[in-house]
Parts: sequence; C-alpha cells; structure tokens
Amino acid sequence: MITEIKKLDRNSILLAKELLLDGKVVAIPTETVYGLSAIGTLGSAVKEIFNVKGRPSDNPLIAHVHKDYDLSKLVLIEHDYVYKLIEKFTPGPLTLVFQSKGVVCEEATCGGDTLAIRIPSHTGCQALLKEVDAPLVAPSANLSKHTSPVTANHVYNDLNGKIPLILDGGKCSGGIESTVLDVTDKVPRILRAGLVTKEMIESVVGRCEIAMHKEGDKVKSPGVKYKHYRPRCQTALFEYGDIKGVVSAYENAVSQGLKPYIMCANEFEKDFCYKNLLLLGKTPQEIASNLYDKLLEGENEADLIIAIAMPDEKGVNMGIMNRLRKSCG
Ligand code: AMP
Ligand code: MG
Repeated sequence: MITEIKKLDRNSILLAKELLLDGKVVAIPTETVYGLSAIGTLGSAVKEIFNVKGRPSDNPLIAHVHKDYDLSKLVLIEHDYVYKLIEKFTPGPLTLVFQSKGVVCEEATCGGDTLAIRIPSHTGCQALLKEVDAPLVAPSANLSKHTSPVTANHVYNDLNGKIPLILDGGKCSGGIESTVLDVTDKVPRILRAGLVTKEMIESVVGRCEIAMHKEGDKVKSPGVKYKHYRPRCQTALFEYGDIKGVVSAYENAVSQGLKPYIMCANEFEKDFCYKNLLLLGKTPQEIASNLYDKLLEGENEADLIIAIAMPDEKGVNMGIMNRLRKSCG
C-alpha cells in the first residue's frame, strides 16, 4: 500500500472522510500526539487499527468528537461535576471515561462497559471531526510500544506501507498523551497523567484521586500495564541532579565504543562538556512538548539515551515522569 502524506486542508479532509467512511484507517494530528483513526461504529475498521499497530486486544481506544457533538448520544453523564470539567478543559487534552451506551463498537471498548471520550482542540482535527460528524476512535499512530509520534514524518517512519493517508497538521503542541480521567464515580480519578493536572482538576471540582496500579492488579485502564513509548536504542534514567551518575554512564558508554546522548532540561546544559545533548526545554510544558520528538531524534543518533528525571511529580511533571519511566526507565 502507498502511504500518502497530505497537508491538512479542505481537500485532504474530504479525502480522509471518504477513506474513513469506506472503513479505512487514517492518521490524524491532534494537539497531544498523532492518532491512528477509524470510525468508532465500524468494527472491522477498528480492528484494522489494532492490526496495523500490533496493539494488545485488551487495550481500549479513545473516541474523539467535535466540540458541538452531543456526548449523551454515546455515554451516560452521571455526575454534575463532569459538566464543570467539560466547560473548563474541553476542547483540550483531557479524556473522560463514562458508562458507554454501546454505540461505539465493542472492538474499540474491548468489550468493556465504559467509553473514553476526548474533544481535541487542534483546529484541523476539529474540522475533520465536524466534517465526519461521528466518533473517531484513535490510539497514538505508532507501532505498539514505540515512542508516540508528534509529526507526520514520525508516523510515516512507523506506518509507511500500512495505511493509505497521513494528514499533516504540523508538530503537536502538547507532546504527551491526554490525561485520562474516570468520571463514573462521585470523585474523579486520574488513570493516566497528562497536561491537565490533578491540581487543575481539583481547582474546578474540589477533589481528584489518582489510580494506583500495583503489579498483578486488575487495572481499570488496561493501557497503563503495557511497555510504552520506547525508543529503538538503549536507555537509562537518572535521578534529578545526579550529574556524577550521568557523567559516569556517559564515559562508560564511550569506553565501550557506544555513542551516548544525554536528554535533559536546559538547566543541565552547563553541567556537561559534551556535544551529544538532547535538550528538552525550560518549563514543564516545553519539556512535555519536546519529549517524544527528542526521543525519536535520539534513537536515530544514539546507541544510548541517558535521561535525567524531573525534580518532582507535581503538575505536568507527573505526566512527564510517567512517560520518562516507561520510555527510559
Ligand atoms: P493511547 O490512545 O494508546 O494513548 O491510549 C489510550 C489510553 O486510554 C490507554 O491507557 C487506555 O487504557 C485508556 N482507555 C481507553 N479507553 C478506556 C476506558 N474505557 N476505560 C479506561 N481506560 C481507557
Ligand atoms: Mg499510545
């Protein structure tokens, strides 16, 4: 199959719509990462997403809808606080998990009774969703376990020959996947950390819990138990500020004939005399937005990426640390 990359515009949106209605999968930009989408009511199209990615069949997909879509067509909204969250954080990088009404097919929900929904803010993605006017289910548009794509070229590198079309909507601004929030109980619960933080949710609805997953637990969000986001080279993760440890790992790698790169926040640039740096930026938002781009740049250059942890797990750092542990830990 020939994989075309087309700049997202009116014509490519119409082409994407035609392919999607015909049961094909199409890669699309969002403000978090690129998604591999299919119409959520077409079981065989949704199966194709799992085939193309090699995604475990028990890991459900998020349904994406436009901002004027009536969510009550798809799910039960059981608690009033949910309306406040929708008002404050959508469109944007917040996914809400509801009781499903079963409209989106069981291939997407993996037979579960809940459905995760997101309203992306990416303008081009909104335009496509509006045009299709149906839920598009989409996981990240990478091969399973690999680092999530934040440019059309990243998608092409993983899925060339496997899908007909990639809509190019530029580099994703958010850079890490959405916060996944379970809103089926009286108190909302974060299943996956992201750019909408616990603190932000609490400021709107008072309380917010974090789901803790231990080894062997039956998890509520199956995706969190899988290996994820890994670049195709060796990795190591060091504590915040452990310059000595990083230097020693770097020197050790060089002495073994390997090419190491250090991936860190800009604040550490002055601590190293090496050229091989992958600088992530200054603020947590900037660091999140560059993380996958730098991991994918790094895997092309390095035999070993040596990453430095964030100073804490507050705010956006919680989402960054979740991705850093899975990609480099
Ligand atoms: P991905 O699209 O690959 O970034 O992953 C979507 C994330 O949302 C995974 O962690 C899934 O397990 C989670 N998810 C999707 N649907 C549900 C659901 N119905 N209930 C709980 N978690 C979900
Ligand atoms: Mg993914």
